[in-house]
Amino acid sequence: MSKIVVKFGGTSVANTERIINAAKLIKQKIDEGHTIAVVVSAMAGVTNDLIKKSKEIDQEFNAEEYDALLASGEQVTSTLFAGALRKLAIKSRSFQSWQLPIVTEGSHKNSRIVYVETSKLNASLDKGEVPVIPGFQGVTKDFRLSTLGRGGSDASAVALAKCINADYCEIYTDVEGVYTTNPDINPKAKKIDKISYEEMLEMATLGAKVMQSNSVQQAMMNDVEIHVRSTFSNKEGTQITNDQKISYDKVITGVAYSKDDAKITLQGVEDRPGIAASIFQPLYENNISVDMIVQNISSDHKKTDVTFTIKREDLKKSVELIKNNKEIKCEKIDYDDKVSKVSIVGAGMITHPGVAYKMFNSLAKEKINIMVISTSEIKISVLINEEQIQKAVAAIHSAFDLD
Ligand code: ASP
Ligand code: MG
Repeated sequence: MSKIVVKFGGTSVANTERIINAAKLIKQKIDEGHTIAVVVSAMAGVTNDLIKKSKEIDQEFNAEEYDALLASGEQVTSTLFAGALRKLAIKSRSFQSWQLPIVTEGSHKNSRIVYVETSKLNASLDKGEVPVIPGFQGVTKDFRLSTLGRGGSDASAVALAKCINADYCEIYTDVEGVYTTNPDINPKAKKIDKISYEEMLEMATLGAKVMQSNSVQQAMMNDVEIHVRSTFSNKEGTQITNDQKISYDKVITGVAYSKDDAKITLQGVEDRPGIAASIFQPLYENNISVDMIVQNISSDHKKTDVTFTIKREDLKKSVELIKNNKEIKCEKIDYDDKVSKVSIVGAGMITHPGVAYKMFNSLAKEKINIMVISTSEIKISVLINEEQIQKAVAAIHSAFDLD
């Protein structure tokens, strides 16, 4: 018999009928003898709606009140869920984050869990109850409510699983698991049975929407095994686990892409020590994250070109910051907001040579131009024109036998 933290995403608890169905799923597990704690998201659409309302009041709505407002979404679901379990004659109660407490640090809207007091939770589990905890939130040391960033209820589930020493964490969502790529753009995508934390982290960071990347990172650091599966089917989902439990028969595990990138090139920048730091300092000070970076070796030792990518929403601000930056002189600033990053991820590439060649060759055959390349131990990313994403993903997916 296992101790499991079961998390339901927004679509799985979108209305009372679905909450009742999800509660039945929990009843089955209890009847099988498992010990369960439940974490819930807000009902689908609720968080977006609350954000919209806050903006109707004030575009720059106060961050503390924003968190208290958004936290209410999950609070509603937690009480309805506990009620649904009680209706099925399962002992249950909701625990709000301040009642435990779940303590967070960091800025509002983007906090992280640093501590979960588990005495009440464990007492509840020992009594044979199913505690239901609202995801996505906690309290600060000053007893203000905080939230963990969009999609943050995954992180709540992982943190709880770690703190109550669960055997694993089950994430119920509206897809059957993690796919080799997004099935919406490539019908040949296949469900992955097992994926390592590292690979999943890359996939999540690179654009796979199934799990929030922070939560995967937490799972990896604490070795909390995750099972992702659908509330709407009985099929086995995807297991996210440590790589000792996986045998790699494929070189590549998945193909991910992002659609919201932009690229900036500084042409003819001086080539001297400190120049790269001067370019990126104001971006960092304005909280703009830079992703891919390439700098050419200058042929004349005087001037070089620097290209980097950022989120598309940060393009305007970044260009301004660079134009106003007195520390750097360059001949021309070029930018493009119609670019996308396509990446292959797989621990198998560590031991297989020729992976980069195979990827580039499959793109070449489709006449897709590569603008920027970046690599890590288990990932190769290329920047291409966004109109070619679908073609690129399909080509790579077949080249690596994932179809
Ligand atoms: N309700 C929050 C959101 O929509 C958190 C979550 O669902 O994980 O971002
Ligand atoms: Mg969600």
